[in-house]
Amino acid sequence: MAPQHVQNAATDHESNGVNKFGVISSSISNSDVISSVLSTLSRYSKFRIRSCFGLFSDSPSGSSRVRVYQVWPGKNVFFFRGRMVCGPDPRGFILTSISIVLSDWIFCSYITVALPQHSDLTAIVSMILALIVIVTLVLAGTKDPGIIPRNEKPELEEVGTSVSRSRSRRISINGVQIKLKYCRICNIFRLPRSCHCTVCDNCVEKFDHHCPWIGQCVGLRNYRYYLMFVVSALVFFTYASAFSLWRIRREVARSGSGMIELLGCAPEAFALALFSFVAVCFLAGLSVFHVYLITINQTARENFKGGYAKSPNPYDKGMLRNIKEALFMRLPPSNVDFRAFVEPNWGSIAKILMNSSPKGVGEEAIA
Ligand SMILES: [Zn+2]
Ligand SMILES: [Zn+2]
Repeated sequence: MAPQHVQNAATDHESNGVNKFGVISSSISNSDVISSVLSTLSRYSKFRIRSCFGLFSDSPSGSSRVRVYQVWPGKNVFFFRGRMVCGPDPRGFILTSISIVLSDWIFCSYITVALPQHSDLTAIVSMILALIVIVTLVLAGTKDPGIIPRNEKPELEEVGTSVSRSRSRRISINGVQIKLKYCRICNIFRLPRSCHCTVCDNCVEKFDHHCPWIGQCVGLRNYRYYLMFVVSALVFFTYASAFSLWRIRREVARSGSGMIELLGCAPEAFALALFSFVAVCFLAGLSVFHVYLITINQTARENFKGGYAKSPNPYDKGMLRNIKEALFMRLPPSNVDFRAFVEPNWGSIAKILMNSSPKGVGEEAIA
């Protein structure tokens, strides 16, 4: 039994219909439109904030058209007029960025200055590593992960099938039967390996997981950037922890005092060494896990759910071809052109806002 708010959303979509760009094609009356717009005026300010940097300002002069990202029904936040697609909660992204910048600042200010030689070179290397981490973080956190367009009308109705008995379909991939589940939010039969993210409220192609540290889904189109971020952060924190530990050892040897006394003398070295050590352990485990997943061509979600426990993995092409596919194959273009112009239907947009819940309205809870 679906939650009530899910049913409400589905019912609303069924009565109005959402086109593939996420814009409702509705036939509701003018009075409905006016009352809906007025009653949701306060929520509308939130909608403006979600579409940062350029709401309405990029419409052609004299036209009421808006871009797709401005009316997108998912919970993403868009920057630079739809060029950057972020998750709805940027706190993880901001926290990760601050921790990288702060760690490098401590490293350059307190660790490298104690080096007997090559202190400048050591600081420059750390800055380059930190820059690589930030760039890969931005790429992973702001790229469309593979959002799948919503359907205008429920697909089940279109084929005239009973809703109750056709929640899933089966297709054969490389001789293995794969079940396609129906998404009532997006009105589509999900593609193989895709899933509806409860945080972002979108179906995402080759969904891996929603990463709170980058604040974004990890899917088909940003997986390799996510991996580059994890590996580069591992290298950066290994570098930082190695020199921090060296500094602590040197201070102990020089002063002859114990570790507790040194806490008062060089607290920044202790803090950086401790934080870097925890980060290295976490990132090393994550890197090993994802390298393993790449070699067997599985997503983290498939692995956690044991998707191929009873049947062979139809996507497994052997280790080398799996690695090539994950890291070197050309990425497909985005399924949704978030910068395309569409004709808005204000009444329907208001309805979306009225039905939007502060919490995710997905069908599956994803870690
Ligand atoms: Zn969906
Ligand atoms: Zn997500």
